[in-house]
Amino acid sequence: MIQFQGLAHEAALFFQREQLTDPALWKRFVEVFRVQQDGENKGWRGEYWGKTMRGGALIYAYTHDAALYDVLTDAVKDLLTVAEEDGRVSGYTRDTEFTSWDLWCRKYVILGCEYYLEICKDEALKREILRFLCRCADYILAYIGEGKKRITATSHRWYGVNSSSILEPMVKLYRLTEDQKYLDFATHIVENGGADHVNIFELAYENKLLPYQYGVSKAYEMMSCFEGLLEYYKVTGIEKYKSAVIRFADAIIASEVSIIGSCGITHELFDHTRTRQTVAYDGVMQETCVTVTWMKFCARVLELTGDSRYADEMERSFYNAYLGALNVEHKESSHPYEWFILKKGYSHYLPTFMPTDSYSPLTPGKRGRVVGGSQLLHDGSYYGCCAAISAAGVGVFLEQAVTVGKDCITLNFFERGTAKVEIKGVEVSLEIETDYPADGKVRVKVNTAKPVSFTLKVRNPAWHHGPRGYALYTKEWSRDTVEILFEMPLQLHYPEHWEKDVVYTDISQTVGAYKAVLPVEVQHKEEEDRYVAVTRGPLTLAADSRTGKPADSVFDVRNMAVKKENTFGDAFPCLLNMEFTDETGDRFNLIDYASAGRDWETTIAAWLPTK
Ligand SMILES: [Zn+2]
Repeated sequence: MIQFQGLAHEAALFFQREQLTDPALWKRFVEVFRVQQDGENKGWRGEYWGKTMRGGALIYAYTHDAALYDVLTDAVKDLLTVAEEDGRVSGYTRDTEFTSWDLWCRKYVILGCEYYLEICKDEALKREILRFLCRCADYILAYIGEGKKRITATSHRWYGVNSSSILEPMVKLYRLTEDQKYLDFATHIVENGGADHVNIFELAYENKLLPYQYGVSKAYEMMSCFEGLLEYYKVTGIEKYKSAVIRFADAIIASEVSIIGSCGITHELFDHTRTRQTVAYDGVMQETCVTVTWMKFCARVLELTGDSRYADEMERSFYNAYLGALNVEHKESSHPYEWFILKKGYSHYLPTFMPTDSYSPLTPGKRGRVVGGSQLLHDGSYYGCCAAISAAGVGVFLEQAVTVGKDCITLNFFERGTAKVEIKGVEVSLEIETDYPADGKVRVKVNTAKPVSFTLKVRNPAWHHGPRGYALYTKEWSRDTVEILFEMPLQLHYPEHWEKDVVYTDISQTVGAYKAVLPVEVQHKEEEDRYVAVTRGPLTLAADSRTGKPADSVFDVRNMAVKKENTFGDAFPCLLNMEFTDETGDRFNLIDYASAGRDWETTIAAWLPTK
């Protein structure tokens, strides 16, 4: 039982209150499978139920809130009624099925139920859900697979990586049922390579190209396939796939993750983000689905390897891109649905609350530009892909904050609160006192029911000077206190350049609806170098025009000196506010990125323009 009081706790309650306990929302999501209008516009309405259910189950695992449990249970029971006589569950009609995003959405139906099964307390309901899942999967197996329609032939988008990501719930279904046919189906997906004409699993294993060079570069869907490959490794023990998963994760760290912990400057695509963060690009970038999927993928690779680098990545994503995307001020995106209404001739839509924003700016820009992955629902309301996935982000962060192994307790994240766990049959309470991430002092009070020996592993964050990894405290514990001080000096970051020996392949091609605009220049343009980013501990600092200096003006960070910390007043809430003076004595403020521009009207910047 973990009871925090800090940012992660607040975020979990935010989703529980504003999204997950709304029965009307769940009704709309289930209705998708009765109305079956996804085929009309090759849509993905069918993903909303399962994505949101996964988040709901993860949040419930933390809050244990009875009202949340009841709403989720009702949503599952309602879903069980949409199966057709032969078990088919789809937002597509039979005429349009097994195209576009159909399998992608069925993946989320199965996955959402599998996550619910982990919290379900009713054995009879569990059996009913499992029957529903098997029939739903069996319908797919009747048409897709070895000697039938190839998995990647079921989608004309992104070379079929979206369809191939059904790998994860199929492996989980095999684990639940031990029925070999589900594992055989998973093997078909893995041997088919994840994408048409491109074997992304082999490419990751070979490790010669970076993910943006694979030929298909849709970040979220590709990571989803590797989440599936990791599950496949866990049941088959084939070491090659374990290597492929780890190499893929490491390649993303090496080439894709931005200063705020998301990927993709060009829309939602891998594009060697690390060196492109200051490129002038007018479109949307840094999709919240990518941020959340990256956090989820890191959580699983962290469990697999025990390597703290993946916790470092989760931390950067969580405190910056992720928390910044939360729509805590209840804003409506400036143009949520115009394009679809114009295209389809709809005359109206119902304004719908999105708990999360879909894209995050890096150079001067604003939040709340558009509802990503939006689809109009049958009643005139709409929903978005990022809104549906978002609760899972804080869910996995909380899940990995304090973990228990055979003879160790691991502290990955430093949120204020209490964790009560059991090790070697003894109850252990960890009381964590800290203002992290605004401050680096962490005090952990350990109290055990009776003396017990174990190792307390405390993560040394990557940004902290000193050895990476975990500090180990091995002793017999009873009543003890561990005090840790992470120094948090300001760190300046400059745009990175292409390495000269990067292998280039000609992969500028049209994939799906988007032209994958891929960089060919080795040298930065001069204006792209005129930026600097500032971090302090795990927080990326940002300019926010509300502090008095426009975020798109020129910042002089040479010899900048901290004048005051956290003294800005009540103009708008933020976690950290620092006042600086530059070389000429002028003052400017930088605040934590997540708090910047949350009114969705203010221009903000993580990369500050300089001379
Ligand atoms: Zn999205």
